[in-house]
Amino acid sequence: MTRMRQKQPRRQLAQDAYRELWMKVLKRDGWRCQGCGVLTNLQVHHVKPRSSLGDDAETNLITLCVNCHQNIHRSRRKKNWVPAELWWR
Ligand SMILES: [Zn+2]
Ligand SMILES: [Zn+2]
Repeated sequence: MTRMRQKQPRRQLAQDAYRELWMKVLKRDGWRCQGCGVLTNLQVHHVKPRSSLGDDAETNLITLCVNCHQNIHRSRRKKNWVPAELWWR
């Protein structure tokens, strides 16, 4: 049997499914920004961007507040961004 190299099709979740996923991630992270610990203005960030095979999976998502979220994207653009592992506790 030959093993085909599988390339995962880029899945797009429906909005409802997305919202559910977000809730799961927020709950898992205790409704806190994983960068600074605030409880407001929370957003969900893709640890690996979808453009580099990041998946719409709980394990690839992290809770960040607006500030930390903007920071991580800004520093990522500067190419000296903090590796995602460091954001986890
Ligand atoms: Zn924060
Ligand atoms: Zn993001």
